[in-house]
Amino acid sequence: MLPELLETTNLFYLLHRIDIDLAEKKKLGGCPYCGGPLHHSNYERKPRGGPNNLPDEICIRLSFCCGREDCRRRTLPPSTLFMDRRVYFRGVVLIVLTLRQHSPRENSKAQLMRLFGVSRQTINRWLEYFKEIFPYSGTWKRIRGMTSVDVGNDELPGGLVIYFTKHIKPVEEAVVRCLCFLSTN
Ligand SMILES: [Zn+2]
Repeated sequence: MLPELLETTNLFYLLHRIDIDLAEKKKLGGCPYCGGPLHHSNYERKPRGGPNNLPDEICIRLSFCCGREDCRRRTLPPSTLFMDRRVYFRGVVLIVLTLRQHSPRENSKAQLMRLFGVSRQTINRWLEYFKEIFPYSGTWKRIRGMTSVDVGNDELPGGLVIYFTKHIKPVEEAVVRCLCFLSTN
């Protein structure tokens, strides 16, 4: 179920629309440094791991630049599609790690490499991030109380994804909600 989602073009359109809404909300608040007006200054990206036929207009990291001459600082709105500066879509990172953590026998690293074209090194880096950094991040500290105590620090992010898929149907909706939850808190 989960791997097929990454071939579902509609999912990425939906996440892109959510990102547009998140950006609009951010824009209303103005520049967080000086209160000046925010202008679009988006980044074109070549994210990996999604369907092959995604149009370029979806592969954009929405971003703003302050309109005041003496400020001009950048503001990044939250994004469900992108995760920090990683070259893979946020959904790809979550799904690959969930498969690896939840059913490791069926999803050896070699198998995941074949399926998603992600290198072993990259998978290890993602696992390390969710083991060493994310559990101690402000994001996880803020949101862990909103999830179940069954989601342990040692099974992130797979435990969180599985928690959403157990409580929300269909699985596409669960993954969308999980992405929103992680990116907007
Ligand atoms: Zn400013």
